[in-house]
Amino acid sequence: MNDQDRRDPERASGDAVPLASPNGASPLAALQGLSIDFSADTGAVPLANAIGPMTLIDTAPITGSPESQFGPRGERTVSKLIILGSGPAGLTAAIYAARAYLDPIVLAGSAPGGQLMITSDVENYPGFPEGIQGPELMAKFREQAERFGAQIEDVDVDRVDFSSRPFQLWARGTEYRAEAVIVATGASALWLGLESEARLRGRGVSACATCDGFFFRDKQIAVVGGGDTALEEALFLTRFASHVNLLHRREQLRGSRIMQDRVLANPKITLHTNTVVEEVLGDAKVEGLRVRNTATGAERVMASDGLFVAIGYRPNTEAFADWLDVDEKGYLVVHDETASKIEGVFIAGDVHDHRYRQAVTAAGDGCKAAIDAERWLESQGVTEVRTAAAW
Ligand SMILES: Cc1cc2nc3c(=O)[nH]c(=O)nc-3n(C[C@H](O)[C@H](O)[C@H](O)COP(=O)(O)OP(=O)(O)OC[C@H]3O[C@@H](n4cnc5c(N)ncnc54)[C@H](O)[C@@H]3O)c2cc1C
Repeated sequence: MNDQDRRDPERASGDAVPLASPNGASPLAALQGLSIDFSADTGAVPLANAIGPMTLIDTAPITGSPESQFGPRGERTVSKLIILGSGPAGLTAAIYAARAYLDPIVLAGSAPGGQLMITSDVENYPGFPEGIQGPELMAKFREQAERFGAQIEDVDVDRVDFSSRPFQLWARGTEYRAEAVIVATGASALWLGLESEARLRGRGVSACATCDGFFFRDKQIAVVGGGDTALEEALFLTRFASHVNLLHRREQLRGSRIMQDRVLANPKITLHTNTVVEEVLGDAKVEGLRVRNTATGAERVMASDGLFVAIGYRPNTEAFADWLDVDEKGYLVVHDETASKIEGVFIAGDVHDHRYRQAVTAAGDGCKAAIDAERWLESQGVTEVRTAAAW
């Protein structure tokens, strides 16, 4: 169905506002009640024909006094749905929720765009046969969410109260309220903390073999870590690399016996125990590593075209871990696809998924969470918009 066919004619009748301001800033502060310029729309189909039986309701804020429904810059602070996070999961949820007229507020976090902002080429996201730069892809996600009216605030949520509805959330001293919440705060790769590592991220330094291994065909690369993730990454990378040096700071690997056996039996992998990276060498791309033997203190330069840091991920759950179930690794636990243990709080993306960890799976999760949230809001009588089955 054509996106623009779904629009509510009443909502489109206000003063037109550019969809994106020239400086890239969100026009939403100016929009207040939402007004989108559909002047470029030439293919209108009568709404009833396009979407069949559907009840559109008003989109006025749901609770609270008028004074408390706007933040210091006039932005909305009350919505039917608040989405936490602006990676692929959060922004996909925002696109779906905005198109279902839930007027979502996205509290995007202090890393707007999420993990893909720190990578260069993304070659496995469908729809971009030539590949696309991570930041460019995330800018498109955001533009698409804003086009349908999502309000996006680049703030971290510090604290939540999920004890009763509307749920309360606080970010930089502003209180937000919503009948439903989608948590899509992702996970952060753990890094070694070297200046040279940060400088060469996306230029040969990566934390995702599935994502970036393909760029290292017939190259020599190094993997740092000693747990199962590092062993898996090293084995996976042998498909592409001419050779993989596995660097572990301790005497013994930490991974499971079976994975260790596979690594040690693989002729394309050399294990270097008691070895730490002191510096990633190169200006525009990785050209080698300065490594140190922790037992002898001896330093040397190791030839390497790439470095994969596989020392773990930290799910971003500080603000709500006390309210929701977490597993032994600290990831949120989902019940029945996207639900959490609290009715009305949904979960999407890498914040719960440590198995797939891909942009496309996170985006799929965001879609599912938005549909589940909408259906739940409908079941609570908060919204009557019946679009979930007719996306
Ligand atoms: C180096 C690297 C390269 C990668 N390359 C690829 C690739 O080529 N292809 C691919 O498919 N995948 C790739 N991935 C994996 C992919 O980036 C992730 O799977 C995906 O970004 C997960 O999306 P997400 O929305 O769940 O979380 P994230 O992308 O992690 O986004 C989380 C969001 O939550 C926000 N947030 C965190 N805490 C809070 C808070 N308290 N309040 C509000 N917001 C908060 C953050 O600011 C961020 O916006 C790569 C990952 C890395 C690290």
